[in-house]
Amino acid sequence: MAAPAAFTSNTDITHFINGKPQAATGGRKQAVYNPATGEVARQVHLASVDDVNAAVAAAKAAFPAWADAPPLRRARVMFKFLELLNQQRDTLAAIITAEHGKVFTDAQGEVTRGIDIVEFACGIPQLLKGDYTEQVSTGIDNWTMRQPLGVVAGITPFNFPVMVPMWMFPVAIACGNTFVLKPSERDPAASLFIAELLRQAGLPDGVFNVVQGDKVAVDTLLGHPDVKALSFVGSTPIAQYIYETGAHHGKRVQALGGAKNHMVVMPDADINQTVDALIGSAYGSAGERCMAISVAVLVGDVADKIVPLLAERARTLKIKNGMELDAEMGPIVTREALNRIEGYVGIGVQEGASLVVDGRGHKVAGHEAGFFTGGTLFDHVTPNMRIYKEEIFGPVLACVRVPDFAAAVELVNGHEYGNGVACFTSDGNVAREFARRIQVGMVGINVPIPVPMAWHGFGGWKKSLFGDMHAYGEEGVRFYTKQKSVMQRWSSSAPKGAEFAMPTSK
Ligand code: NAD
Repeated sequence: MAAPAAFTSNTDITHFINGKPQAATGGRKQAVYNPATGEVARQVHLASVDDVNAAVAAAKAAFPAWADAPPLRRARVMFKFLELLNQQRDTLAAIITAEHGKVFTDAQGEVTRGIDIVEFACGIPQLLKGDYTEQVSTGIDNWTMRQPLGVVAGITPFNFPVMVPMWMFPVAIACGNTFVLKPSERDPAASLFIAELLRQAGLPDGVFNVVQGDKVAVDTLLGHPDVKALSFVGSTPIAQYIYETGAHHGKRVQALGGAKNHMVVMPDADINQTVDALIGSAYGSAGERCMAISVAVLVGDVADKIVPLLAERARTLKIKNGMELDAEMGPIVTREALNRIEGYVGIGVQEGASLVVDGRGHKVAGHEAGFFTGGTLFDHVTPNMRIYKEEIFGPVLACVRVPDFAAAVELVNGHEYGNGVACFTSDGNVAREFARRIQVGMVGINVPIPVPMAWHGFGGWKKSLFGDMHAYGEEGVRFYTKQKSVMQRWSSSAPKGAEFAMPTSK
């Protein structure tokens, strides 16, 4: 199957409601850029309140039949979707690179990590199995089952336009819910391509819908009485707003927020391995990953060894259009994001950090209008600086020097974010102590970006996650279902006469 016209031409990016593409009703549109060239690639429609209401109504109408379908039948649609995704892996990756800018091989990896979750969702009959206890009292059995919630919505960020929606909808749909996705307006095309693949996989109309848009769409979903749960991934201020507003409207909410991920480097760490890990995790995807390492915590004398090696590598990163196969780093998603990132570099200089490598103003030959910046490296960053405290979300690595392991742990634990963290060491006792003591949701030991696999669930602590349940894995299944407990007795064991005391096991 070739990529549909909508993805190969400059046609507008519309909604997808009740099994087909649908234009927005209010006439509002926004430009979508190719960040490598700086050109407007196409326009995305922005939803009106009516558009969101139409998507929710379609999802609501589709819910009873879909919820009633045996889990095995729902799983078979997922298996077919999986097959199509595997066929279209590179098309999806190219769509990502064209709008986000990340290098093509990284986009392929993103698609694969999304596919992992679809594979997990294919096992939904096993995941929805309840518990059963025979004979909780004489003649009485008790069991639990998990049932879908109804219409659920997902609101997603620009930095993983395929993987993050796939943290949500495969599990939600496999559980028997119907879904409304509100993707990022900065790279929206992948959502329509996914909707088309789901349709081809045999998903009934209305089970998966897409509304393109901005705050109007989000606020309509937040206040809509027929939306039972909301999954959000994005920046912390919006995550907190979604969590509080959704809860106010009585919805179940999981809202994953921003990050400032540290890598603690112990003096006994393998230096070459650590430098490779830091360069890849700080500058990969131009630092626009919620699990990017943005702070290197250099313990003892390791700083003097590692900073010159980092500087050399940061200066020689291959920064190109992400479709060039030897590119290591692509452009930043938008001109505004580029200005924000380079603005932070200026702030770091004013705050007194040592600017070892300055990526500002980087130009790529033949792509002079693209949204490029180079890799930036700061040394002697201190915890009171804004470039330490705030999420920059760009290719800027801050080195903080600390005297010992205890100071490193105290530093990490004192930060308001708690998404991911890593410790590089060759000492098993240090590693064990680190994993136990660190106040962060996802921990890597000699692994720089410890994104949990599909069946483990993803989520940070502190201001990196609002809500109780992590994304995907068994927590995802719990989030998208409600538990019902059933107790049954048949007449042969029924007592004679009314009982007024609290029933106990007899
Ligand atoms: P963002 O918060 O700007 O946008 C996320 C979503 O919220 C988008 O769909 C957007 O349209 C919507 N939105 C934006 N402003 C809104 C408002 N005022 N009211 C209602 N809705 C609004 O985030 P982004 O820039 O797209 O993505 C980058 C951020 O996402 C970073 O902070 C990054 O750390 C975070 N992120 C976190 C995780 C995680 O798992 N914790 C994963 C990926 C990205």
